[in-house]
Amino acid sequence: MKSKGRVLIVSPEMVPFAKTGGLADVAGALPLALSSLGWEVRTIIPKYRMVDEDRFGLRDSLPKGTSISVPVGERVEKGTLKETQMPNSTIVSYFLVHPEFYDREELYRDRARDGDYVDNDERFIFFARGVLEALKAVGWKPQVIHCNDWQTGLIPLFLKSVYAQDSFFQGVATLFSIHNLGYQGNFPATTFPKLCLDGNLFKPMGPLEFWGQVSFLKAGLVYADILNTVSPRYAQEIQSDQKYGLGMEGVLRSRSKDLYGIVNGIDQRVWNPQTDSFIPYRYSEADLSGKERNKFALLKRVGLPIPWGRVPLMGIISRLADQKGFDLIAEAIDKIMNLDLQLVLLGTGDEKYHLIFQEVARKYPHKAGVNLRFDDELAHLIEAGADIFLMPSQYEPCGLNQLYSLRYGTIPIVRETGGLADTIQDYEPKSNQGTGFVFRDYTSQGMLKAIKRALTLYQDQTSWERLMRRAMREDFSWERSAGEYARLYEKAMAKGNGG
Ligand code: ADP
Repeated sequence: MKSKGRVLIVSPEMVPFAKTGGLADVAGALPLALSSLGWEVRTIIPKYRMVDEDRFGLRDSLPKGTSISVPVGERVEKGTLKETQMPNSTIVSYFLVHPEFYDREELYRDRARDGDYVDNDERFIFFARGVLEALKAVGWKPQVIHCNDWQTGLIPLFLKSVYAQDSFFQGVATLFSIHNLGYQGNFPATTFPKLCLDGNLFKPMGPLEFWGQVSFLKAGLVYADILNTVSPRYAQEIQSDQKYGLGMEGVLRSRSKDLYGIVNGIDQRVWNPQTDSFIPYRYSEADLSGKERNKFALLKRVGLPIPWGRVPLMGIISRLADQKGFDLIAEAIDKIMNLDLQLVLLGTGDEKYHLIFQEVARKYPHKAGVNLRFDDELAHLIEAGADIFLMPSQYEPCGLNQLYSLRYGTIPIVRETGGLADTIQDYEPKSNQGTGFVFRDYTSQGMLKAIKRALTLYQDQTSWERLMRRAMREDFSWERSAGEYARLYEKAMAKGNGG
């Protein structure tokens, strides 16, 4: 069968090889879904220490003695290339090898100094240009290079400057995906000479300059043929004002007609109450009985008593950070705990929230189960056992937990922002429509009102179960999102004249 097109997915992290956050899930699931749609996909990430060579069977891609050279300032850095097949597929996954840059304990952060690695600029200059050199070295020419987040932002720039006249790259188009605008890859002006580019590019207000700094993100935003972010609402918000755009709103507005929003899919092999191996009782929309048994198992696990009567259990799984709405929760916590509900929280993050929730656990031992750690298995049990899921984010590019919650019939309460606004419809009692409870203003009163609406409906078991079933029927599979990415690749290819 002739393929629909050739695409290289470039990401700083990718499941199952190396992960720090949600981007890795996206970068790992999308290639498989695209491949089922008939695309020829290859992938590339740096060869970090975290990538287990033996487990994944990495082998050399290039003949012995061949290397990949990238100028970084006055130096020429040399690396090599390895590859394997992405598990359960025929997709070729490449790894750019440069031990001095990538053979380190963590991906981006230096534990010893509790901050980013000081040479992150050089590490991702080498990666961006190294990716292009690697393609030439193996002789595989994609039609589209799909870049993800600031670590790959220089690729569209290099293609349109250093490689503009290179016949190998004629017609190659780029898509740049923004997964969280909060991470911009901004470096001091001293980084600019390391790029070995024309000085005009770093003039004030120029394509790389951001308040006197060199911004790798901005390079991607300015030079990629097509841009997208992980929900349509977030795509609007980041163009609207400084609060969401974080200084990039002007650049994004100037690219408005090329900027799209695509909601992430969820990995149904991992998040599915009918097959989930982490939960004691499987269940489905047709037979919800397992859900209550999971609730009892969860209460027991987190040391809460089984309540008399019909009392809802509200779950939270999150990074404990302001972005996720914890300032609202902290402000209203006593009011929340005085409602007729129980709470189970799983999360780690800012120290101030650890202290607040330790106090909550002490004060409400029969009502609050507090788990201040990262625990994948407990996360699954909370999705399966809780009745309600609270996610009052300040901003949310896409959000995954509200999608898992829908799948598990755990009714989400969310703020109307970003991906939350796009994926959860507010419950409408008159028409009996909707999949969750949505509040607009970022205030604790707004959040409390939404929680109270949920508690009231919860007492009407028939309506609540109808709501659960509606939530469980929502489709956030990767197949759907991959189809939308394919359409963007086609748009990009039209701009690049198809390679
Ligand atoms: P973000 O990427 O902004 O943190 P998302 O909702 O997109 O938020 O994704 C968060 C992912 O991390 C989800 O899969 C969630 O279940 C998981 N997660 C967050 N905190 C924990 C934790 N303490 N234990 C287990 N899983 C967690």
